[in-house]
Amino acid sequence: MNGFKHVVYWHDTEEVDAGPPLRESIECDVCIVGGGFTGLWTAHFLKLAEPALDIRIVEARHSGFGASGRADGFVTPTIGKDIQALVQQFGAQRALKASQAVGRSILEIGRFARKNKVDAQYEATDYLMVATDQAQLKRLRHDRELAERMGAAQPEILSAAPSREIVGSPAIVGSMRTGGALVNPFRLARGITRVVRDQGVTIYDNSPCLQVEPGARPTVVTAGGRIKADKVVLATNVHMDAFKEFRRKVIPVWTYAMVSEPLTDRQLSRVNWEGREGLVEAKSLLTCARFTHDNRIMFAGGPVPYYFGRDKRQRNMNRREVYREIHQEFLRFFPMWRDVEFSYAYGGAIDVVRDFAPHFGSIDGNILYGYGYCGNGIAATHTGGKVLRDLILGKDSDYSQLLFVDDERRKPPASFPPEPFLYAGARATARFMDWKDSRS
Ligand SMILES: Cc1cc2nc3c(=O)[nH]c(=O)nc-3n(C[C@H](O)[C@H](O)[C@H](O)COP(=O)(O)OP(=O)(O)OC[C@H]3O[C@@H](n4cnc5c(N)ncnc54)[C@H](O)[C@@H]3O)c2cc1C
Repeated sequence: MNGFKHVVYWHDTEEVDAGPPLRESIECDVCIVGGGFTGLWTAHFLKLAEPALDIRIVEARHSGFGASGRADGFVTPTIGKDIQALVQQFGAQRALKASQAVGRSILEIGRFARKNKVDAQYEATDYLMVATDQAQLKRLRHDRELAERMGAAQPEILSAAPSREIVGSPAIVGSMRTGGALVNPFRLARGITRVVRDQGVTIYDNSPCLQVEPGARPTVVTAGGRIKADKVVLATNVHMDAFKEFRRKVIPVWTYAMVSEPLTDRQLSRVNWEGREGLVEAKSLLTCARFTHDNRIMFAGGPVPYYFGRDKRQRNMNRREVYREIHQEFLRFFPMWRDVEFSYAYGGAIDVVRDFAPHFGSIDGNILYGYGYCGNGIAATHTGGKVLRDLILGKDSDYSQLLFVDDERRKPPASFPPEPFLYAGARATARFMDWKDSRS
């Protein structure tokens, strides 16, 4: 457990050619704040729909630096926290429609990568939701019942022996296969960056937006310049709280991952895992595992801490106690891999909203937003890019009607309380989820 670096593994898989910062005052049609998947997909779909649009992106660091480039890479149809919360809030029919749209995004991301020669290490492996105790088996059954209620395909629940033939972990007592893929999220983000630049979008790196001045044409202000635009899109995820209207709408909750050295053939031969499926444990504070393209094992999960004062600082990657817990979980699943050396240990913050499902919409019609993925955003941001495209173009479409949109049927998320109540509440919620996981 010694000697790992607190650097995002994916960041070491591709060099960044940063764009210039904003150093002028200009005007354009659409200015997007934030170069993660939400901002990039929005720019891409807008350019496909209206190639003549002048679109600019301002990014605090470089595109893919945020959650998008440090995600674990599970491309799943999950929207917000989980399917149970979604059906409870929106009903089976609306939840199904949104899940189908996000399900299509999984396939379309693969197609996008192939078509545009983006080497995002996309693997159409599916993922395996596994139970390691009776409470989790019950949860799998419940998810299957929900799929039935929604009229979606009902995945088969496998018992221990056939599950362990798929992934040879002695901890697994049951499983359910679900459609999905794996990706290297940083290479995907950098690939979309290249594509949107080729489409004529200008990206200003190292240009944090300091404020947005509202008006008939709002203005994005950075230290080096200003951009006045017909529409501004706020796509800053966990940093949405920097803008007045969103100050208490979103909180950063940390999640962590460890990545090993590439496994040797001897190590690989000790565990059945031919299909390389992403592995996800069926609980709220989930544990997940996957192979990277070069056969490292990524093991993620453990506690999901909220740090006092909405702390998002990178120094939170340096938390030995968290990695100790993750490593113990790893050995619970894979005791035969005791000799596997982990070289990367890092984390990032996810954007949690009070109703646990993403929100898209606009303030005054010309400042748009999309956030609140609650840690499940790789596929949902792709769908979200189409939602924002249609909201910007004023198109009444299937996407502008999806449950994500704040409209007469759905209110923006409720505010979180101020500190110290927020900290106390977040800790109590984490304890509650832990307790619920153990008995559901
Ligand atoms: C550790 C971790 C693991 C995850 N694993 C998965 C997974 O396996 N599967 C999955 O589906 N989802 C996962 N997620 C969630 C997923 O990564 C996100 O939901 C998704 O990437 C959100 O994309 P985004 O563009 O909205 O946000 P981001 O990628 O965070 O992009 C926001 C961008 O805005 C920039 N920015 C912030 N403030 C400003 C400002 N003032 N001015 C200009 N720019 C600014 C940031 O630098 C950043 O690049 C994970 C998230 C984390 C943190």
